[in-house]
Amino acid sequence: MHAMVLERLKSPLEMTELPDRQPGANEIRVKVLACGVCRTDLHVVDGELPDPKLPIIPGHEIVGRIDAVGAGVKGMQIGERVGIPWLGHTDGTCPYCLMQRENLCDHPLFTGFTRDGGYATAAIADARFAFPLGEAGSDSSIAPLLCAGLIGWRALVIAGEGKKLGFYGFGAAAHILAQVARWQGRSVYAFTRAGDAKTQAFAKSLGAVWAGSSDDSPPESLDAAIIFAPVGALVPLALKAVRKGGRVVCAGIHMSDIPGFPYSLLWEERELLSVANLTRKDGLDFLHLAPQIGIQVKTTQYPLAQANQALADLRAGRFEGAAVLTP
Ligand SMILES: [Zn+2]
Ligand SMILES: [Zn+2]
Repeated sequence: MHAMVLERLKSPLEMTELPDRQPGANEIRVKVLACGVCRTDLHVVDGELPDPKLPIIPGHEIVGRIDAVGAGVKGMQIGERVGIPWLGHTDGTCPYCLMQRENLCDHPLFTGFTRDGGYATAAIADARFAFPLGEAGSDSSIAPLLCAGLIGWRALVIAGEGKKLGFYGFGAAAHILAQVARWQGRSVYAFTRAGDAKTQAFAKSLGAVWAGSSDDSPPESLDAAIIFAPVGALVPLALKAVRKGGRVVCAGIHMSDIPGFPYSLLWEERELLSVANLTRKDGLDFLHLAPQIGIQVKTTQYPLAQANQALADLRAGRFEGAAVLTP
């Protein structure tokens, strides 16, 4: 197999030939068909997340076809198309697993971070954490659903039932979630970097009722806001934009420091919380819903060998929607 490997933090990935691995107990091996590029991959490369496995093959939005099955795997066959997400393994026994919050497991493994991921021609996964995908939809249009889509979905559920939703940062996740929110009959207000008219027009083309700069006040108070961009300074801005009792959800795994702000922004029962990882139920719920919504995923495709370019383009905001690697 070939993979784009991160040997040292803050260095480019290197195309590497590796021996083919056999799946162990409860594992499957897939031939990778497509792997999405997520902002979390940048945080991994940049060393912004604690305790990565090194060397590591990044990538946690994997669409693959099973070509080998280990002992004990139930309900998955060779030839089946599956999705492999960020949550790669849990212990199943810690207090969080037992309270149906496996996203907070004390002993998890995360694909592309603490176990090898999908920037490769092949990947091995714990079968119990992979999702059957069926055959509808192209590999590259499904890949971004596996993190941007389903962790975004978790954030949307946690944001509550309000009709007026603000999205701060309009990248891969927001462009998917805007379509979900519209399908639910809600109104999306899109906040981008100041002066980013192109992304604001993109947001409106996906049904946003308003688009502006992140330091603009929306035309009306919002019921909730989701912050997708890794920018702590957005927290007080989003709190200012939500109504009394409104909720602000931080959806990213990493954020720059949140600046101090007056208590009056939180007062009147506004809530501020974060979303961490996903549960398998989030994935099953979202992947069941996605075909009914008819989500159009905008992708920019790169060959596997150009993974460094894809990451650089993501960092610089050079594409709309999501980047996808194909082997
Ligand atoms: Zn656990
Ligand atoms: Zn991700």
